[in-house]
Amino acid sequence: MKDKCQREIKHIRFSVTDNCNYNCIFCDNEGFIPTTNQLSVDEIIKTCRLLAEVLKVKRIKFTGGEPLCRREIVDIIRRINELGLYEDISMTTNGFLLDQKAQDLVNAGLDRVNVSLPSLKPNMYQKITASNSLLKVLKGLKTAKNVGLYPVKINYVVLKGLNDNELEEFIGFSARHGYILQLIELHTRSDAVGQKKEFYERYHVDLTDTIHQLEEEAYDVKIRGKMQNRKVLFHPNGAVIEIIHPSHEFCMGCTKLRVGCDGNLFGCLYKSDLGKNIRDDLHQDHSVAHYDKIFRTVIDSREPYY
Ligand code: SAM
Repeated sequence: MKDKCQREIKHIRFSVTDNCNYNCIFCDNEGFIPTTNQLSVDEIIKTCRLLAEVLKVKRIKFTGGEPLCRREIVDIIRRINELGLYEDISMTTNGFLLDQKAQDLVNAGLDRVNVSLPSLKPNMYQKITASNSLLKVLKGLKTAKNVGLYPVKINYVVLKGLNDNELEEFIGFSARHGYILQLIELHTRSDAVGQKKEFYERYHVDLTDTIHQLEEEAYDVKIRGKMQNRKVLFHPNGAVIEIIHPSHEFCMGCTKLRVGCDGNLFGCLYKSDLGKNIRDDLHQDHSVAHYDKIFRTVIDSREPYY
């Protein structure tokens, strides 16, 4: 299904819980605050099935909160995989429980993983995440790679005066271990989740110049046209760096639909208020046409950019 800008919806970003064992200072809460309890496992599976059947999407990313804090996460992945409707099942995690759960997740059908890693320095890691667990997360990253999750990506959100001096270290680290580095500019438009404006203004770094410099150094640059027109840079030392830099161009390539853990379906990270909660509908005997109409309304609420 395409929105009014002819952007076809190809990816689902599904939050399975708003619980998190971290308290990252920069967290955007995936752009929403739940208004009701989280969906049950059956409700999640039914929603995913309907999304795949109606929208023909084949890619889904589980997020949170912290998805690995959802007790039934392995079961959720297994049941999604068994639907046979999704070709690419991935997850974004803080990595705290990854060492423990990676093998079960792969067995259940998880294909790949993104791990949030805001610093490679234990003290700074703790300052940013409120968790003294850098070594545990690094172990989780290794295990993820060893059990066959591929690719393993690192999410590095750059924060002024905190971790913005670690770029070179991150590039070396990801090249050495074969992880893809996602260089992420802090998004400052998180009005959906409260009064964080001052924080964002204080820690935001405009990555435009850094990206230009990295592009000059790169021996190749590709565009992930189906994924927010993201640039992928191939660095001479072997690192692969994916750029996540909010811009009009970025929005113009956005093919995502989001589902909050309470069943709120929304079309943009910055616009959860334009969403539609489908939890009650899931308990009625509605036809596929009913969901087609709901999904159409949400998809039609997507603006060209924000
Ligand atoms: N707990 C999981 C994790 O840490 O990946 C999933 C939720 S977290 C909100 C998902 C991703 O959003 C993280 O990788 C994080 O780097 C990114 N993120 C969170 N807040 C952000 C912000 N203000 N700007 C840019 N990226 C952000």
